[in-house]
Amino acid sequence: MTFDPMQALLGVAVAAAITFGAHAARMLTRDGAIAATVVGGAAVAGAGWWGGAMLALFFVTSSALGRLPGDDRSNRIAVRGNRRDAVQVVANGGVAAICALSLVLAPRPSAGVLFAGYAGAIAAAAADTWATEIGSRFGGVPRSLRTGRSVPAGTSGAVSLAGSLGALGGATLIGIAVAIGARAGWTVPFGHPLGLIIVAGAAGALADSLLGASLQAAYRCPNCNVPTERRVHCCGASTMLISGCRYVDNDAVNFAATVIGAAVAALLTLGLG
Ligand SMILES: [Zn+2]
Repeated sequence: MTFDPMQALLGVAVAAAITFGAHAARMLTRDGAIAATVVGGAAVAGAGWWGGAMLALFFVTSSALGRLPGDDRSNRIAVRGNRRDAVQVVANGGVAAICALSLVLAPRPSAGVLFAGYAGAIAAAAADTWATEIGSRFGGVPRSLRTGRSVPAGTSGAVSLAGSLGALGGATLIGIAVAIGARAGWTVPFGHPLGLIIVAGAAGALADSLLGASLQAAYRCPNCNVPTERRVHCCGASTMLISGCRYVDNDAVNFAATVIGAAVAALLTLGLG
């Protein structure tokens, strides 16, 4: 794909229109909308219109799932409201944006590997978000990947059958989008796009669960006696660190999961290509 400055400008304009629409619909905070405009503009500039559409597909389906009924937010641990802020946008889309910007500069032979990495990062973000939104509603009582024991819904690193199927669904959606784009000639081609992107997305979601169950900081509110991811609970009380590393939060784990998704897709493309 050759860099087209006009397409890049138009990409930023379309991304701004979508993200500030999402801000008006209370799906993104203001700084989240600015960050998403940068990520979306980079996506169109480097990965083309279909690449940008894949990112939009992830964002729209994740936001729609986040609005499904049945999620009792007062009980949900991973809660930070349903509006995504800039840190969350970068945690989910930063790696894809870096891959897209690399595509602008990359020599042609490496474009397939970089585009696979771009798609793998989005697939990992979609898999993880779908798993969270579906698992927290339909997953019942999940089990900790670390201990195998039942834990409260929303606990980081906890898995359920519904959540795992959600992860597979999110990864498959992006895989299908990539395969359609590759067949139609709308994207940089690489080998086995459907299967490869599903595997990359699932690997990212698995990495997210493993890191969430191990390195991610987990706190407990002494006031309400419930587990939480936050240093200050919604009741106002300061929480206590009960496991994990103080500096590793949910956003850091999400970012790492997209790195894994991108790396698995890129390495498989190198290996199979
Ligand atoms: Zn509390």
